[in-house]
Amino acid sequence: MDAEQLRECGHKTVDFIADYYKTIENFPVLSQVEPGYLHKLLPDSAPTHPESLQHVFDDIQDKILPGITHWQSPNYFAYYPSNSSIAGFMGEMLSAGLNIVGFSWIASPAATELETIILDWLGKMLKLPEDFLSVGQGGGVIQGTASEAVLVVLLAARDKFLRKVGKNSLGKLVVYASDQTHSALQKACQIGGIHPENCRLLRTDSSTNYALSPNVLTEAISRDIANGLIPFFLCGTVGTTSSTAVDPLIALGKIAKSYGIWFHVDAAYAGSACICPEYRQYIDGVEEADSFNLNAHKWFLTNFDCSALWIKDRNALIQALSTNPEFLKNKASQANLVVDYKDWQIPLGRRFRSLKLWMVLRLYGLENLQSYIRNHINLAKHFERLVTQDPRFEIVAPRVFSLVCFRLLPASKNEALANKLNHDLLNDVNSTGKAFMSHTVLSGKYILRLAVGAPLTEERHVNAAWSVLQEKASALLGTL
Ligand code: PLP
Repeated sequence: MDAEQLRECGHKTVDFIADYYKTIENFPVLSQVEPGYLHKLLPDSAPTHPESLQHVFDDIQDKILPGITHWQSPNYFAYYPSNSSIAGFMGEMLSAGLNIVGFSWIASPAATELETIILDWLGKMLKLPEDFLSVGQGGGVIQGTASEAVLVVLLAARDKFLRKVGKNSLGKLVVYASDQTHSALQKACQIGGIHPENCRLLRTDSSTNYALSPNVLTEAISRDIANGLIPFFLCGTVGTTSSTAVDPLIALGKIAKSYGIWFHVDAAYAGSACICPEYRQYIDGVEEADSFNLNAHKWFLTNFDCSALWIKDRNALIQALSTNPEFLKNKASQANLVVDYKDWQIPLGRRFRSLKLWMVLRLYGLENLQSYIRNHINLAKHFERLVTQDPRFEIVAPRVFSLVCFRLLPASKNEALANKLNHDLLNDVNSTGKAFMSHTVLSGKYILRLAVGAPLTEERHVNAAWSVLQEKASALLGTL
């Protein structure tokens, strides 16, 4: 690695990315390429001789950018956001530059210690109970994704239970969640050896705004116990993926406690909003949870990937996931003086992800982060008002954070027609390249989702997205 060459290439790369952000609105938000497009553009094998950086940049510009869906575009409203920021980007650059692999404390003490400190900071910003902080038996760890977070806590809970009831009881362990819970839980059950029939995705509907009903949960648990099964894991969600439903954590926590069930709270998207005092209420009840997760890479200005997980009993995680091979033994670990995050996650190797979160917290500060969240929620409220004012549309689920769920209504109240209409509307809007939104299905209704959360989005972008929706809706209704 030649330092001067790095400086020159690094500057060019930053210039390239800065130019990308400068012109990001010119690209169609949703990539318009056909499957397999890149095969036609790239050679069949790697080059034998080195090529110039400029040649590679030209290819990125001409061949890669057309195949990019621009998540950072201000006109991006799909799924949930995946934020970038200058602070997060610089943290990523520093992490790539130092390029350490911090599996154990000794492998880079600063990486481990910074992660512990920063997750304590963020835990305090969220007013998590002290049991989740590193002062006691708990602590935080950065996982790559919410899927990894729920997997590792499910494994911790599974092994904790099996130590009590015996390994042969694995087939009797039961998991509970609502049917709105992210599919990451199902994947965790598959990997964790939970019998497919023992993953209860309990029914929700519009009467609870798609939140899990404590009564439905209690009934399911009682039935399972009567059938000789062992309830062991409950996943509650704050801000479900389809419609931002908020499960009633206080009631669920009480039930979990009374049956001795591990209670995990998935706040992957909405958790970030809880740094604002007015939204903190949505995680009231987290006091009874065993583990809590939010994706800082979703709505917290921290470049992907950075999923913050807190756990009250870190030993449960360590007992499920630790190995102690000779080649990793060292004085600090043997003396039990340090955290070795390799024992809190699936892989051995790990990136220095806390750097970017630290930079975000320091370069923004709590007040700016709060304003950032509030601004997006206000923009979502603005969009909600626009939808409400047009009688051709309806809001389908209450807006809680920055997601609006809505649909276009056909003149005849035919549900099949309504679904087709909204499916076509979404395709028509997204194929303009002017805005990108996504869909879900709730109670059999095909629904459009507009999630505000890209860092560059302003009111004019929300208005522009609404204009495209109205224009395409008029065209579709005109042809009915
Ligand atoms: N949980 C919720 C509520 C989500 O909305 C998502 C993704 O949008 C996930 C979990 C999965 O996140 P990840 O991609 O980090 O695994």
